[in-house]
Amino acid sequence: MTHTDPSPRSTLFNPDELGFDPEELRAKYRVERDRRLRPEGSAQYIAPTGDFGYYADDPHADPDFTRAPLTDEVDAVVIGGGFGGLLAGARLRQAGVGSIRIIEKAGDVGGTWYWNRYPGVRCDIESYIYLPLLEEVGYLPTEKYASGEEIRGHAQAIARTFDLYRDACFQTEVTTISWDDTACRWTVTTDRGDRMTTRYVIISSGPFSRPKLPGIPGIDSYRGHTFHTSRWDYSYTGGDQTGGMHKLADKRVAVIGTGATAIQCVPRLAEDAAHLYVFQRTPSLVDERGNRPTDPEWARTLTPGWQRRRRDNFLTIVSGGWPGEDMVGDRWGDLSQRTQAAFAELGRTDLSPDERELVQEIADFRKMNEIRDRVDAIVADPATAQALKPWYRYPCKRPTFSDEYLPTFNRPNVTLVDTEGRGVERITERGIVSNGVEYEVDCIVFATGFEVGLTHPGFTGSPSVQGRGGRTFAEHWRDGVRTLHGMTSHGFPNLFSMGTAQNAAAVNFVHILDEQASHIAAMIAQAEERHARYVEPSAEAEQEWVTFVRRTARPNPVLAECTPGYYNNEGKPVARPDGYSGGAVEFHELIRKWREDNGFADVLVPGQEQ
Ligand code: NDP
Repeated sequence: MTHTDPSPRSTLFNPDELGFDPEELRAKYRVERDRRLRPEGSAQYIAPTGDFGYYADDPHADPDFTRAPLTDEVDAVVIGGGFGGLLAGARLRQAGVGSIRIIEKAGDVGGTWYWNRYPGVRCDIESYIYLPLLEEVGYLPTEKYASGEEIRGHAQAIARTFDLYRDACFQTEVTTISWDDTACRWTVTTDRGDRMTTRYVIISSGPFSRPKLPGIPGIDSYRGHTFHTSRWDYSYTGGDQTGGMHKLADKRVAVIGTGATAIQCVPRLAEDAAHLYVFQRTPSLVDERGNRPTDPEWARTLTPGWQRRRRDNFLTIVSGGWPGEDMVGDRWGDLSQRTQAAFAELGRTDLSPDERELVQEIADFRKMNEIRDRVDAIVADPATAQALKPWYRYPCKRPTFSDEYLPTFNRPNVTLVDTEGRGVERITERGIVSNGVEYEVDCIVFATGFEVGLTHPGFTGSPSVQGRGGRTFAEHWRDGVRTLHGMTSHGFPNLFSMGTAQNAAAVNFVHILDEQASHIAAMIAQAEERHARYVEPSAEAEQEWVTFVRRTARPNPVLAECTPGYYNNEGKPVARPDGYSGGAVEFHELIRKWREDNGFADVLVPGQEQ
């Protein structure tokens, strides 16, 4: 092995002791990234509209559903019926808000768990910390990583427990939201002719709602059957989320994509299809899962407040801290703990920023070496094993966890088609062309992910939100996001946003949503208690937050070097990230302190007695 790293950073580690050469790995990562970079970036994908609209149709809703338009008044309208909207509804209910109307385009609550019913769908975060409001609903998941069906059932249980079905509108899309300053009410119109009024509006239109398709030449020429994983067609495959897809027994099936979704559905498809072709552009990093049934002994030890403690513990660990124990104890916290151990082992307090980055990078290399060794240990065919190895740093893509995915490639009816980073070449009438070879298939399943992130009307202009004086949200955000804490904006009284803009993010995103829902509910409760005219940050308070977030924004240097994906805008990371750069733990502490210190005074506009 040659050791070529001349940088002074390398003096911290001796390559002979490491057993690998960091510079070789860096070079390999660069080569693998460069062959995946595409000049068109995110524009390589096709939205499911026009001729592709059927990819986004709702296979679960009643196509004949009709109802009379509503012209009533409710206390709060919540846009979105996923966990964000449900948490907002639940926390508002706890705060004493009377009529709460969830408006959701799907046929029921559940959000991503409504849409994603592909075979094998499961939580990739431990369900005891992912499923919200477990103690409030009185439920404990049956497994450490619950199935999608169980999660969707829990979403419905939340809606029942907090009486959120009573006023809900499903199969309904909001078209406009406009503020009436005299009445201090929002008017909300929908595609079903509704024209309702409300005092409060909460926007929680999640980031994973619209499937995206790869812009592969010829995609519209295919004559076989196709669908996206988030609209699984069980009428074609037979079976259900547990598998048993008997109609595939004589079918050649192709899956395009090898992200978190494919990792879960590929093992089920392999069991049932006559032959399965998995078309890979970039391999996922696949770590151990270790799913198991919930231990009743452990369940008996839980005491009130356990879910919050466990969730906070996990968040601290994945944020790089160490709370003294790892309650969840799964692979999500592994790299963070190894990195801390590496710092402890060095025992130096005088490390320069470069040296600190090197310690993190070496821990990352070690972790990824283990991930690659795991592929060799499981996959029998050496060429297939080689192709399944991920060559990038750990934070580049969402890690995946499975004890079933890699062994699937030892089955005789499964072929990995590695496109060597280029992606599928072409789709024909009969199948898929890759590396010049045509693979004839009966069905193509697109596991190609979702349009991520920019679903807030401030970015998209849809629905049209008109605040005071008719100013739209899109206008207000034209030169960048403008909020206080990501949740309220000046000129948009009593309107609250949930999401990541000028707010925190973390892998257990439902936790983040709960903190937001609780904060919004606290503001509304204070407004009610103090008979405020409405909740609206002053222009000064908003500007202060905007300035602070922009000043402290730190583009992630690791992501900038990463292989492309939605984490880094397909290799073109935004120069100024919109999120709060201090991390979720710090952000939660900041808004908690704001509440304690009566920050409400900044957002409550006094009014006449209501
Ligand atoms: P991803 O965006 O993660 O993956 C899309 C896949 O499609 C990638 O492997 C991508 O390759 C591939 N692809 C795109 N274009 C082409 C092409 N032209 N040719 C070949 N391959 C192509 O989508 P997922 O649906 O897998 O996951 C989305 C997110 O949903 C996850 O990151 C996760 O946050 C969430 N999720 C959560 C789960 C949970 O349990 N909580 C379960 C499943 C998903 P490339 O990598 O090269 O771009």
